[in-house]
Amino acid sequence: ARWPDVRALAAAPLEEVLAAWAGLGYYARARNLHACARVVAGELNGRFPDSVAALRRLPGIGPYTAAAIASIAFGVPVVALDANVERVMARLFAIDTPLPAGKREIAEAARALIPKERPGDFNQAGMDLGATVCRARNPRCDACPLTAHCLAHRRGIATTLPRKAAKKPQPVRRGNAYWIERADGAVLLRRRAPRGMLGGMVEIPSSGWDGEAAPWGEGAPFGLPFAALDAPVRHLFTHFALDLTVWRADRPLPMDHALPDGFFWQPREELEEAGLPTLMRKVVRRVLSSAP
Ligand code: SF4
Repeated sequence: ARWPDVRALAAAPLEEVLAAWAGLGYYARARNLHACARVVAGELNGRFPDSVAALRRLPGIGPYTAAAIASIAFGVPVVALDANVERVMARLFAIDTPLPAGKREIAEAARALIPKERPGDFNQAGMDLGATVCRARNPRCDACPLTAHCLAHRRGIATTLPRKAAKKPQPVRRGNAYWIERADGAVLLRRRAPRGMLGGMVEIPSSGWDGEAAPWGEGAPFGLPFAALDAPVRHLFTHFALDLTVWRADRPLPMDHALPDGFFWQPREELEEAGLPTLMRKVVRRVLSSAP
């Protein structure tokens, strides 16, 4: 493994961790994993805390992850409620309060079941059961070890549970990405600020979609003339959809053009190795498949 233990991960530069994560999405997870490794390897002398409360003080560890680590690694009898376990519990007890309000009832039901012995196995069994047997659309009740106890199965309502409150339509944001080449064909990239959307990741310089001011100020960068490619690139984030209009500079920048902090040139044939996130890979594909 590239970083075989927490100390090795803590010693790695964040840029390398983000580049290894590129394309997987949820980039805050990579940043948090790295920040967490630094706290554990530094302040905590390489030892993970063993209580839910102490685990939750680590970067990126919320209630679910803390419960999963505490129960699986340290045998603490707490329920780790992921979507799979939630579904199993809602069906087992025929809880029909729609999510997210129903979460509390489901958690209480699960807490009543968790054993003092091997709570980690209980949690993992629930996760596996939900993933492979008590599936969302097509539960395999005939192969389920809980059939005799399952209220939803008995009432024939398994596939209607858990109920979910109606979702709001996803908002759409709009922004711009700027494809700029240098006289030798290298492409201009930028490392984004460490915090915020795609924090610390490398991008085709973009603006207008993330609530941040563009580093080059108003309008298009470097006073270049641009032409927009046909249709915007669409990308789905967890909470919104993004339509990114891709602009291509009509002429290259000279070899000696000074760049602001965070910007750098990447040889065109090495774009694959730049660690671009999926959104920006879509932008690259769109440009390379469009006629110049
Ligand atoms: S009996 Fe069916 S609905 Fe009930 S827990 Fe098993 S698979 Fe899910």
